[in-house]
Amino acid sequence: MTVCLDCGEVVESTILPLDLTAHTWGEWTEVTSATYLSEGLECRECTSCHAEETRVLPKLVPDEIISDPETGISLNTQQGVLPEGTTFEVDDVFDGTYFTLLNREVGNVESTMYNITPKADGENVQPDGWVLVRLPLPAGYDPANVNIYYISTETGVIERMDSYIEDGYICFQTNHFSVYAIVDASSPAETPTETPTDNGGGTSLSFFARIAAFFRSIAEWFRNLFNK
Ligand SMILES: [Zn+2]
Repeated sequence: MTVCLDCGEVVESTILPLDLTAHTWGEWTEVTSATYLSEGLECRECTSCHAEETRVLPKLVPDEIISDPETGISLNTQQGVLPEGTTFEVDDVFDGTYFTLLNREVGNVESTMYNITPKADGENVQPDGWVLVRLPLPAGYDPANVNIYYISTETGVIERMDSYIEDGYICFQTNHFSVYAIVDASSPAETPTETPTDNGGGTSLSFFARIAAFFRSIAEWFRNLFNK
């Protein structure tokens, strides 16, 4: 409050002091997008002195959950990332090529593989953005030692995904659905017996395991060759 010393009238100043240090900020531009697992970052620049300012974008929060009661698997996302009415199919993967690639990367450990296929109107669809996938931990898997791996047989790429454990689920995010493996690095896979005395299923399993072992020995030979 300002008071005139001559007449005692209360006057309000309408002239704000000129701030010479004020910047003329441009628009915020996204530097890193926020995801379900990490915060993002955006940046703006002063158009006169080119000073820069950054601010954190909070982690994404899912507002749409698509779940499969049979497997307990759920896709957690935001409106518009998957087409309206999307459901998904889950197939257990038994193809030996995937196990060969995985075992070459992580050794002969316990793993469970899923091929998750989102579908809308009968067509396979891929998300336009991030989806947080929650997979129930298979029985006997050690929560402290489980990891998620992305496997592509087309490119031979194996990639460990960032993941976390929550309420008996292992959670990771993806923007592309493919084959994912839950791997328990603490437990070696059961070694198949050389004498197939049981049914055909057991025989084919040990067949794939033998192929896996063969590829592992080749990989080992190459590692020794190049002393990697
Ligand atoms: Zn400035």
